[in-house]
Amino acid sequence: SVKEETQESGGIMYSSFPDLKIANKDIFSYYYDISKSWQHKTFTECGLSGKKYTFGQTMDSALRWGEAVKKILPNSKNPTIAFLCPNSPDFVCLFLGTLAAGGIVSPLNPLYTPGETANQIRDSGAELLVVDSILEPLADAVLKVLGKPMPVVVNGVSSSGRPNAQEVLVDPNAKMLDFKELDPNSVAILPYSSGTTGTPKGVKLSHNAFTINTCMVSNEHFCKCKAALGDHQEVQIGILPLFHVFGISGTLMHGLHLGIKTITMPKFDPNLFISTIKRHGFSTFKNPMITTLKVVPLLSKFIASCDLITKDDLKSTHTFIIGGSPLSTDVVYGLKNKTAPTVHINEGFGMTETLITHGTPVLNETIGSSFRLLPNAKAKVVDLDTREMLPPNTPGELIVQSPSSMLGYHNNEEATKETMDEEGWVRTGDVAVYTEEGLFSIIDRIKELIKVKSLQVSPTEIEETLQKHPGVAEAGVVGVPDDQLGEAPVAFIVKSDPDVSEKDIHSFMEKNLSKHKQLAGGIKFVDELPKNATGKLLRRILKKSLN
Ligand code: AMP
Repeated sequence: SVKEETQESGGIMYSSFPDLKIANKDIFSYYYDISKSWQHKTFTECGLSGKKYTFGQTMDSALRWGEAVKKILPNSKNPTIAFLCPNSPDFVCLFLGTLAAGGIVSPLNPLYTPGETANQIRDSGAELLVVDSILEPLADAVLKVLGKPMPVVVNGVSSSGRPNAQEVLVDPNAKMLDFKELDPNSVAILPYSSGTTGTPKGVKLSHNAFTINTCMVSNEHFCKCKAALGDHQEVQIGILPLFHVFGISGTLMHGLHLGIKTITMPKFDPNLFISTIKRHGFSTFKNPMITTLKVVPLLSKFIASCDLITKDDLKSTHTFIIGGSPLSTDVVYGLKNKTAPTVHINEGFGMTETLITHGTPVLNETIGSSFRLLPNAKAKVVDLDTREMLPPNTPGELIVQSPSSMLGYHNNEEATKETMDEEGWVRTGDVAVYTEEGLFSIIDRIKELIKVKSLQVSPTEIEETLQKHPGVAEAGVVGVPDDQLGEAPVAFIVKSDPDVSEKDIHSFMEKNLSKHKQLAGGIKFVDELPKNATGKLLRRILKKSLN
């Protein structure tokens, strides 16, 4: 067959699992129907306050919020709504209600500075900002940077009399949206990613992209979690942030798809995380144990090495889904030592632009940074210079094609064309090798992206910020491996003022960029930066100089 011929000659690689059918429904209608099967079971429970919603209550509350959106923005058909909210059961309702109303969710990292937040709001064209009550001062600062008013709704009690979205969610008299099915190929979610180059860009992801990706991840070949039928219900911790696709697809949609109970966490707090695992370590009907954990590599390292988390606490945990940056074999063995021998450690690979394309199957599990194509996904590995397709066991850039890929970057035709071709093949900027058996390993990253605690950091964004400092003539930024953070940004700076100090630069950075973008890898003052003939910064040479 064509499939076999191309694989032997080093062509396109296909998943060895059968393709799944695309539901071709918008996210809200799709999960509204599915969740009827477990509507009385708990969907979300706040790890801090214990506040809960069943699946049925979540859908009803979402519809109340959907109606409110129509009232707040009566003249917008598909408004983009920016969310500055840590994970919580209320945020989940607001998220789904926005989609039900035909809105586009543009989620923001709650740790962003006012400037970073304003950039995303401006670029996304958001018409409404929903902010968690604890972040209301940040919203005020953002409005100042924006320099013009925009409607703001608070998730919680406002300190300045703004409308409270939570009241709408639980008001039995609030009208529910008269819901109509939406175009499943329209944009649903607009997260930001710097992709292979440049500053963060809006990634247009459709309803279909998310519903098919959830099926690609949660089918029986890749997932041991079972649907919540009869007395059965899986339990997960919702620690992956909902401003990143791994949280949206891996936790929220997976939870809706199989009726998984989700204990939400607003941020990583070691004590809360440990106590939640322990509290759910006793299996009772009311307090079922954690069956599945979705985490980034650094958090899996924490679980593996934390003495307070014992084998007993994890005795019902049958599945880990780990992704976002490379996972070391040591951590996988560390987790295996603490769990039942049958535990499934599923390392996922993906990008904001494609969602999850690779994972570790339940059978034939391999260990440490190697994975197989999920159903419906295709891949090829190409020579970095000639762009020719490469045979097995030869490193090159990984290019993927999947129905879960983005529609393109928001208002950025040029970046879209550089990243995605007309047939939907997306450049990952990662260097991979694959075997004849279809096992992929990521061995390097050629794109500029730095991942700090698995969060995206764009060197271009840091460089542009540094260049605004009066004492900086030029700056080049690269990532270095770091035990605590995964990677840490290092800046090479050419001074324009001999008196400028490292301390000056650090305090300038603290004012302008969020914590994970700080120069934790250090600052190096240099006389000049390496550039090619056209003046393009050669980050590879900077990186090499650190070895
Ligand atoms: P993001 O768009 O934030 O999800 O970042 C995507 C990038 O994270 C990928 O292109 C990789 O560079 C990196 N990444 C994600 N998952 C893995 C993984 N399992 N192993 C190695 N790198 C990964």
